[in-house]
Order: sequence, then structure tokens, then C-alpha cells
Amino acid sequence: MTRPTQATVDLSALRHNFSVARQLATGAKIMAVLKANAYGHGLLPVAHALAADADAFAVSCLEEALPLRLAGLKQRIVLLEGVFGVEEIPIAAARGLDLVVHSLWQLEALEQAMLPNRIDCWLKVDTGMGRLGFAPDQAGMIAERLQRAAGVGNVYWMSHLASADNPDNPATDAQQACFDELTSPSGWPSSLANSAGTIGWPQTHGDWVRPGIMLFGSAPLGTPGLRPVMSLEAQLIAVKNLPAGHGVGYGSVFVCPQDMPVGVVSIGYGDGYPRHCGEGSVVGIQGALVPVIGRVSMDMLCVDLRTVPAAGIGDRVILWGDAPTVDEVAARAGTISYELLCQVTPRVPRVYR
Ligand code: PLP
Repeated sequence: MTRPTQATVDLSALRHNFSVARQLATGAKIMAVLKANAYGHGLLPVAHALAADADAFAVSCLEEALPLRLAGLKQRIVLLEGVFGVEEIPIAAARGLDLVVHSLWQLEALEQAMLPNRIDCWLKVDTGMGRLGFAPDQAGMIAERLQRAAGVGNVYWMSHLASADNPDNPATDAQQACFDELTSPSGWPSSLANSAGTIGWPQTHGDWVRPGIMLFGSAPLGTPGLRPVMSLEAQLIAVKNLPAGHGVGYGSVFVCPQDMPVGVVSIGYGDGYPRHCGEGSVVGIQGALVPVIGRVSMDMLCVDLRTVPAAGIGDRVILWGDAPTVDEVAARAGTISYELLCQVTPRVPRVYR
């Protein structure tokens, strides 16, 4: 008997969400962003599920890319952070991986590298994010050098949107204008849009869109018919009737206002359920939304069963999925769905259907 806690990953929902991205960005190719273990869903199963449809995969680094190649995936694979050392360049070349080039030392290393085959490179420009990428006024000169570098094959433009999840923020238009001005003279393919750009800013689609979170069912700009992919599930492992005045959990921050049934659920922050989601959060039991009470512990949390008196040991508990959604839980925890999904810990088995 294993611990009754798991993340059920619905691969048909994943493929559905991919098809939504495809419909939104009809003229663009799709680079499915699968970094951080495919946002916690499991890199290889997710990549295999999208293999027939995705034009490319993007991951953070070499360690995330190599398993995809070893698994036989033939897609273009882009390392979003490029290489972290010159010794990674020949490995990327041998495995046919694309590099994002965002810093001068990477360009210099590519200029000096003796490689058996050329590497396709994405020249990253900082159009406003203030993170990775060359300043726009350097980009033309870097582009020329990159194009001439011995180890470099095709060159593409890339930039990243900082505020596309806010439909009223003019920064996105400014980033796009800056990017278009830089990229259009060269005629090289370009990529700017993340999920928010894909959903809410069609003018940013360019040649390649790079959706991540929307593939997993969370929409930064409202829900264009996306389906949750991960359902985080546990079980009621104990039910007890506590008298009025009895505390629940560490610090007794919840005190029973009356005699009441309390359920103990087999999940805690050791599984990635946020400790901040104590009082005021809800879980799904028997189709009802049931309040979490007291502090979340490492391996368990407690719920108020007054509204579901028929609930009993062995009942399935939904921490997030259809209801509550991961976005709702994230809002409650003062964070974003990305973080919750990535933080589901390795001890939680991912079960695919
Ligand atoms: N492109 C880059 C460079 C990223 O770093 C990310 C994720 O952080 C994405 C695309 C995908 O973003 P999102 O998950 O918001 O679609």
C-alpha cells in the first residue's frame, strides 16, 4: 500500500491546451516551454504527449535537454538560459541543441569553438525585462558577429515580455515596438510571446510563440477554454469528532467553535502544498469545497467536515484541479500557479492518464 497522495496528470487536457495555443497563434510555430520538469508535471511524459504537435521544446539548461534527446525526441530543443560554461558548447552541438545567446562571453566562446557541426542560436535582446539579453543598442553589432561565428548556424531573434499578463500595461507595446524595429531588417525569424502574449497580444506572435503555463491549464489573462492538467489529490486518513474549544494542529490556531467533525488529509508542505494555505483555503471532498483549518503540517492538513457529514476515511481530497483551481489556491497562498506546480515534491507520484 502506498501513501494515498498523487498528482494526476491529464495528458489529453495538455494536448487540448496545446491546440488552444495553436488556434490562437495560427501563423506561428510553437515552442512548448517545458522547463522545471515541465512545470512540475514530468518532463518526459509531457514531451512525449506533445511530440507529434510541438514544433520545438524549450528547457532551461543542458541537464533538462539531454533527457529529451536520450528519449529519442527529434524536435528543435532550445536552452533558454544558454550555456553556463564553454565546456557545454560541444555537448550542445553534438546533441543538436539550440542555444540562447544573451551574454558576450557566450558569443566569444562560439566564435572560438571548434565544433563538428554548427549550432542554431537565438539572440536574446533585453527589450524591457531587465533580465537576460543584450541591450537593444548592442544587438545589431552582436547579430553581425554571431552570424559570422564559425560554430553558428541559423540565427533567430528572441526577447521576453515582462508584463503581458496585465492587459492595461503599455510596456508590452513598447517591448514589441523595440523588438520589431531591431528584428525586421534582418529577416531572421523571431520569438517574443509567452502564454500571456499568445493569449492576449496577437501582435506579439511573430514567427514562434513560447507558451508554458497555458499548456498546463492556467491562463495569465483569463481562461480561453483551457483545462487543468494536474489534479493534486490525497485522502482522508482520519476523521474525528472534536469538542467545542479543542485546538487543531500546531499552535492550535484553529479552535473548534462547536462540537464538530474534523478530517485529516494525507498531504502537507512536504508534498508541496503551501503552508501559507491554512485558514481560508478550501479543498474538494465529495464535490463540495471544504475549508482547511489550522496550520498545514509537513505530511498532513486538517479540514472542517461540518458541511460534508457523510465524508469518511478513504475519501478522495482534491487540493487543486477542477475545483479549487491551482490559480485559486495560489491566490490564497499569495503566489502564482507556476510556483505551486513546480514545487510539488518528488515524493508525490505523477500518475498519467
Ligand atoms: N520564454 C521564456 C524565456 C521564459 O523564461 C518562459 C517562462 O518563464 C516562457 C517563455 C514561458 O512563459 P509562460 O509560462 O508565462 O508562458
